[in-house]
Amino acid sequence: MSITSKLPEVGTTIFTVMSKLASDCDANNLSQGFPGFECDPTLLDFVDKYMRAGFNQYAPMSGIPVFRERITEKTKLVYGIELNSESEVTVVSGATEALYAAVTAVVTQGDEVILFDPAYDSYAPAVKLNGGVPVYVSLEMPDFSVDWEKVKSAITDKTRLIMVNTPHNPSGYVWTHDDLNTLVELIEDKDIFVVSDEVYEHITFDGRKHLSLLTHPILRERTFVCGSFGKTFHVTGWKIGYCLAPPQLTEEFRKVHQFLTFSTATPLQYALADYMSEPSRYYSLPDFYQRKRDLFCEGLKETPFEFTPAQGSFFQMVSYGHLSQESDYDLAVRLTKEIGVASIPISVFFSDKKDHKILRFCFAKEDEDLNSALNKLKTIRL
Ligand code: PMP
Ligand code: GLN
Repeated sequence: MSITSKLPEVGTTIFTVMSKLASDCDANNLSQGFPGFECDPTLLDFVDKYMRAGFNQYAPMSGIPVFRERITEKTKLVYGIELNSESEVTVVSGATEALYAAVTAVVTQGDEVILFDPAYDSYAPAVKLNGGVPVYVSLEMPDFSVDWEKVKSAITDKTRLIMVNTPHNPSGYVWTHDDLNTLVELIEDKDIFVVSDEVYEHITFDGRKHLSLLTHPILRERTFVCGSFGKTFHVTGWKIGYCLAPPQLTEEFRKVHQFLTFSTATPLQYALADYMSEPSRYYSLPDFYQRKRDLFCEGLKETPFEFTPAQGSFFQMVSYGHLSQESDYDLAVRLTKEIGVASIPISVFFSDKKDHKILRFCFAKEDEDLNSALNKLKTIRL
């Protein structure tokens, strides 16, 4: 028996590859994006409380009502947007599920989907598995901003969806008001939906504010906003997130979610609902991560790398093309094996796998881990 693969070009993700290599080499793992520290023990106490109190059976398909209510309150507090928690909020098993379900809800055979290049690795497979055709628009180096003329030329009668990611992984670029407004100008008179991946919504730096696509009335009507509690509360292994979308879109989204995972871990939802009753728990995130970004960037100054401090996310990119022609993949592997610091070669995020001589480091780690990695990076030869 043989299988005709729907994703012939897909192998094991670079995150798995580099994390395994980091572990094999006992390296500082600044590759895969996950916090290297524990979440607040209060959150664990809440989970324990609900598990022991018997909240261990299926949750409602769309999410526990009080949890959806808390997500609605957060959206009001942070963005000033009123959502209906019954008809516009769905709890999902991680943003990856939200992205997949949103794409599945709107993309049919032959539809074109605009993806910014480089993009997070799950977007193109989600589009292809639904019979869609990814149309790539390359982001502008060195800051990975959007060239809107390129987007304009990529739009055709077949364009059904645009996938946005702000703050952006891997670059940290944060969308501006101009970005939102230009997107509106380009699509307002067309039947084009938007999936907005906002998993790093609470991680922006230097006073920058994340602009959710929800905040623009025209975008709000046609956008699925995907969020993740993994990033916000340091629990990536819990795989819990949400999708915010207008009622008609949510209805279609839930049809997919219903048969993808049906519902999401019950005690986690109750625990997170209690935890979110204190808004400082998400409002404190920019300061918490800016200190880490600054610590990491200060140390990077003593390495041969060139970089501009990230605007958002918990990733810092560095370039080395001025010093060496070694491929980013080879360098990432060599640094892990030779000095014991693992990173992600960002060529993997590009549709054509082009090597721009850039590595991505995750600074969501203990200070001790970051300092140890920096001391090693200061010794490298390129
Ligand atoms: N989108 C982006 C841009 C990400 O970086 C990640 C995870 N690191 C996800 C989506 C997936 O989030 P989750 O773990 O909640 O599925
Ligand atoms: N989003 C994480 C990153 O960019 C990885 C998540 C995963 O391993 N799928 O590093």
